[in-house]
Amino acid sequence: MIRYECDRCGERLGANDPKRFIVKLEVYAAAGHLEFTESDLDATSKLNEVIEELAVADPDELEDQTYRHFRFDVCDACRKIILSNPLGIKSPQ
Ligand SMILES: [Zn+2]
Repeated sequence: MIRYECDRCGERLGANDPKRFIVKLEVYAAAGHLEFTESDLDATSKLNEVIEELAVADPDELEDQTYRHFRFDVCDACRKIILSNPLGIKSPQ
């Protein structure tokens, strides 16, 4: 029998446990793809600039800037907490 535990609080959960929920989180750049004009391609300056930036960039940082996804198993109590404040924003005190 596959056992799960809540990734937030550690509560033990069964595979078909009605108290087990899955949280998926995707983070990706809002900007669209790069646009190149004919003159950009002729001069290749913009393209070279992008290539130079990629050559020295940290691969993990590039991945973080483009697309990351996460999947969590959570219990019912943690589901409610997450849904009440998905971004975990602290309220002013
Ligand atoms: Zn939990």
